[in-house]
Amino acid sequence: MTKRVLITGGAGFIGSYLTERLLNLGYNVWVIDNLSAGSAKNIQHLLKRRNFRFVKGEISNKQLMKNLMKHTTRIWHLAATMGVRRIMEQPLESFKNNIESTHTILSLAANKKIPVLITSSSEVYGKNPYLPFEESADRIYGNIQSARWGYALAKAVNEFLALGYLWQKKLPCIIVRLFNVIGPRQTSASGMVVPTFVQQALSRKPITVYGDGTQTRCFVDVEDIVSSLITLMETKKAFGETFDVGSDEEIKMIELARLVKKLTKSSSDILLIPYKKVYNSPFEDVMRSKPSLTKIRKFINFKPNFTLKESLKKIIDYAKTNF
Ligand code: UDP
Repeated sequence: MTKRVLITGGAGFIGSYLTERLLNLGYNVWVIDNLSAGSAKNIQHLLKRRNFRFVKGEISNKQLMKNLMKHTTRIWHLAATMGVRRIMEQPLESFKNNIESTHTILSLAANKKIPVLITSSSEVYGKNPYLPFEESADRIYGNIQSARWGYALAKAVNEFLALGYLWQKKLPCIIVRLFNVIGPRQTSASGMVVPTFVQQALSRKPITVYGDGTQTRCFVDVEDIVSSLITLMETKKAFGETFDVGSDEEIKMIELARLVKKLTKSSSDILLIPYKKVYNSPFEDVMRSKPSLTKIRKFINFKPNFTLKESLKKIIDYAKTNF
């Protein structure tokens, strides 16, 4: 019998790529998504596949989740409220939903010892100034009045819940801290920088660089991330471990704006916008973020296949035909 697996958030940006890849590998894939951030469009092309089942529903519906887990052999838990803009606008939902949904998944999976991979975030490191972020590094968070740190805290709580279920209930689980994943299908709705810049450049609107533009990020292609999420699940010794996964190609946001402008051949101006004008409430940016790839290389020989420039070209081509 084909192995049945469950993906939460499988209609989302990363989830839809994971779904497609697993279907191509011959898995029987069930997806649950409430389509709050994900979109039916992302999985439209998969609906006719024989081994695919999509359920629109809420993780908070425990009976539904129990039914979905009945014959499930693996769970990738990707569903989350995320994106800095969304978190700043809906701090309560973001904090509550992220913790409650992860707890539901972990507790139900633990009852049946179903292996789970949970996706965490580079945000858990907060504003730790020591780069690259080693998995064992300290977490440094700012003023609690800034909603951003609530998201970081929720992700850290989720990791701790996973570890609790691992230690006390022997739940086989893997924690993956994702660093700035990009690719076609990612929308600017949650404020993510790459789709925002690309859309601005293509529509010849000003490219909005927040702060002084010296803050850095490392962007990784969604295809590379999906490969790692599948390989980790197939790697026995990865269970019980936490991994940074991303790229170590670091770029300043002002340089990213210039690169997007160049690749789109846009006439857009590049504007520096003070954070105060972007957010109504206190906001603190993470000034630098970079994963340590030492551990993930050691475990699964991970290496991103796409450079930032290659990913941007794919994203721009997609945006030209889809927006
Ligand atoms: N950013 C920006 N202009 C935008 C959106 C974001 O300059 O229109 C900056 C943002 O302040 C941050 C970086 O881009 O320094 C990455 O933001 P994103 O929300 O994509 O990811 P995260 O901050 O969660 O790493």
